[in-house]
Amino acid sequence: DTPAPPQVYLKPHFNYNPATDNLIPCKEAGLAFSKGDILHVVNKEDPNWWQARKVVGGATGLIPSQFLEEKRKAFVKRDWDTSEFDRYELQIYEEVAKMPAFQRKTLVLIGAQGVGRRSLKNRLIVMNPLRYGTTVPFTSRHPREEERDGQNYCFVTREVMEKDIKENRYLEHGEYDANLYGTKIDSIHEVVDAGRTCILDVNPQALKVLKTAEFMPFVVFIAAPELDTLRAMHKAVIDAGLTTKLLTETDLKKTVDESARIRRAYSHYFDLTIVNDNLDKAFDKLQEVVERLFIEPQWVPVSWVY
Ligand code: 5GP
Repeated sequence: DTPAPPQVYLKPHFNYNPATDNLIPCKEAGLAFSKGDILHVVNKEDPNWWQARKVVGGATGLIPSQFLEEKRKAFVKRDWDTSEFDRYELQIYEEVAKMPAFQRKTLVLIGAQGVGRRSLKNRLIVMNPLRYGTTVPFTSRHPREEERDGQNYCFVTREVMEKDIKENRYLEHGEYDANLYGTKIDSIHEVVDAGRTCILDVNPQALKVLKTAEFMPFVVFIAAPELDTLRAMHKAVIDAGLTTKLLTETDLKKTVDESARIRRAYSHYFDLTIVNDNLDKAFDKLQEVVERLFIEPQWVPVSWVY
């Protein structure tokens, strides 16, 4: 007996509409799909057109193969530089598998500065301290008077930090005012080993490293609202006396622009997008979705399973 061929499930990172595709031999035979749908590939024999079935709804039809889509996309001039080129491969199809409910090792909040990720993270931890935890960043900066080591930061010398960075012990790091700052990979494992999901609000550049079985991230993009809404939200926070850090119109505009840029470059990593136009509502939505992860099966990259 020959064993049954493994089932192939793909998550497309693009929208497809056969009605507007001039390459498909017969438009009626095509299967329209959206980014993030799960497609069961039934037949891959033709190099250009695969037969697929949508897992939700069950519609079937032809979809462009990875090969065809690569050719098509290589044709279209992109304004990406070469360093972003490896992302492009991911933007066609991602092979996924269905896993029974399990606890994600990390919950990654991506978004522009000033979009409320820190508040959302802190709220989740305060509400569910047994379920969620986070890391304390390291810095080479000297502690301020009121700062205690291990609270807001772990303070280390620049030499120690540079050595650890060189040895790839950091998930990400950056320099600010001539001091180094960063998140150590070991601190993530400590939270996970204690049975908690580690919430990270890191730069999107860290996603590539995080999206592995080692970290099993659920990635949430916290999107900036329209500029007017953001301005009103900021005014409310100031009026309530919750912060004295007054943001200028330029700061607010920068948040909106940065949010759009992150979405363009990294959307294929997002498991969920929440527009933060109201912190309470954004929190409720985040909490609802992440709580479901503990009880519902999930589609994850096939490399996490096998
Ligand atoms: P402060 O020294 O005032 O506490 O922080 C200054 C800046 O350091 C922050 O605004 C932030 O941009 C940066 N920073 C703090 N923690 C981290 C971190 O874990 N990684 C990176 N890359 N930057 C950080």
